[in-house]
Amino acid sequence: MNPTSAVLRSWGQILRGRQPALSLEITKECPLRCPGCYAYDAAHLGPGQVLRDLSDLRGDRLVERVLALAQRLRPLHISLVGGDPLVRYRELEQIVPQLTARGIHVQVVTSAFRPLPAGWAAMPRLTVVVSIDGLQPDHDQRRRPATYERILRHIAGQRIVVHCTITALMTRRADYLEDFVRFWSAHPQVEKIWMSIFTPQIGAELPEIPSSAERQWIISELDRLRRIYPRLAMPAGVIAALHHPPASPRDCIFAQVTRSLTADLSTRITPCQFGGQPDCGRCGCYASMALSAIGEYRLPGGIPAGRIYQISARIGAQWSQSSGSLEA
Ligand code: SF4
Ligand code: SF4
Repeated sequence: MNPTSAVLRSWGQILRGRQPALSLEITKECPLRCPGCYAYDAAHLGPGQVLRDLSDLRGDRLVERVLALAQRLRPLHISLVGGDPLVRYRELEQIVPQLTARGIHVQVVTSAFRPLPAGWAAMPRLTVVVSIDGLQPDHDQRRRPATYERILRHIAGQRIVVHCTITALMTRRADYLEDFVRFWSAHPQVEKIWMSIFTPQIGAELPEIPSSAERQWIISELDRLRRIYPRLAMPAGVIAALHHPPASPRDCIFAQVTRSLTADLSTRITPCQFGGQPDCGRCGCYASMALSAIGEYRLPGGIPAGRIYQISARIGAQWSQSSGSLEA
């Protein structure tokens, strides 16, 4: 979809006080224990709540609740995340085709610790995003049991997007990112490669967090690599957005247009999918940067799309308050 169509499709939703994107943590469970995972971080759901302690749903109840949410909120785009959503693969085999049949674009974000359902390979309006944490030795150590060897087996015959969150550890060798992009570009199942930069909470100190100099190096390296490897889907607008991330959640189009719910399917995650107090000034989230890039896009007449979003969101919030129609 070109940027103008994307803006216009979501515009009507925003004007009605709706958020055109929905992100659902459909399970609290995950067989992995990745260092730096934000979903299980104490800050994710705010004081006194952690994802593993929530009561989540499964079986028919999960299927019914997700479909009912989609019916009520009428998003254009749904991300199914977790935990790892493939923990609930039986439910996903019912949920995903029913959502895509309603015209909703569905994105499943997984570690591919188990095979992807065969029916997903040719399903329209479905994107499967497989998270891969760097080159094989690092990834296999961080994301066991979803090792390279298993991922390659589990994505056979599928079409996927590879997503990598770049950490400081990946800047210690000059050709690290190129080796990663070259490896995954060579696999026919990989349609695109998206790269984020690790986004910390305010005040956090973790070995994954790139310094300012490392961040600058990462951005210029991505800018170089995108010109060599066409599957690295990092357009110029995304590179520019990484140089100037949103100053706050209020300035983040992604946070404004996305409703994120955790595994009880009612508690909201704020201000964005990271929860807690994310450090927007050091944000490297691909989705946020991609929407910032759309925000800079000039619609016919020269109006920046981001300006349309901001005005529409204000009108929509007033409409929603006066109608009271959308809140759970
Ligand atoms: S696979 Fe995802 S949800 Fe599970 S521990 Fe790793 S980062 Fe967290
Ligand atoms: S996605 Fe990034 S910029 Fe947007 S609110 Fe979250 S941390 Fe801030």
